[in-house]
Amino acid sequence: MIYILLGANLGNRVQTLNRAVDLISERVGPVLHGSSFYETAPWGVTDQPAYVNQVLAVETTFLPEEVLIQTQGIEQELGRVRLEKWGARVIDIDILFYDQLMLRTDALTIPHPLLHQRRFTLVPLAEIAPDFVHPILQKTTLELLADCEDEGEVMLVY
Ligand code: ATP
Ligand code: CA
Ligand code: CA
Repeated sequence: MIYILLGANLGNRVQTLNRAVDLISERVGPVLHGSSFYETAPWGVTDQPAYVNQVLAVETTFLPEEVLIQTQGIEQELGRVRLEKWGARVIDIDILFYDQLMLRTDALTIPHPLLHQRRFTLVPLAEIAPDFVHPILQKTTLELLADCEDEGEVMLVY
């Protein structure tokens, strides 16, 4: 099972996320669970519009590098333009976990290296995978959320 974070803060955010879910289910594998949508305060670069975030649990037969190629293709197709680091974007698709795999290459780090420092990631993740154990930190996502010092706002939308 892989866990994927979707984020959008430009355009019709919910519509873009729904299109991303469709494309992921076509090109990566069946989407078994999707969290609620959350409206979240921007993290890192804070003078930008609020995000909508969702976490998906996806079953895949692809290798991690192949998943990244697919998700980057979907980002492009949905109109992502890469400007400043952590800046506003139509869509962002991050791979959070790939089973219990630990991987670090120039293109890909799994688990996502910042996931435990971000409420906007941990809250939707804990909704659909509360007991999933982080392979490096050896804590469940619920425990990571309890320990997380990020105070960014995360509001349930629906
Ligand atoms: P952050 O990764 O801190 O959330 P970001 O999502 O804004 O920042 P991007 O500009 O979307 O960063 O991605 C930069 C690069 O990160 C991508 O080109 C990709 O190669 C790399 N990357 C490394 N690990 C991952 C991962 N787990 N999921 C997605 N991309 C990753
Ligand atoms: Ca990201
Ligand atoms: Ca990204």
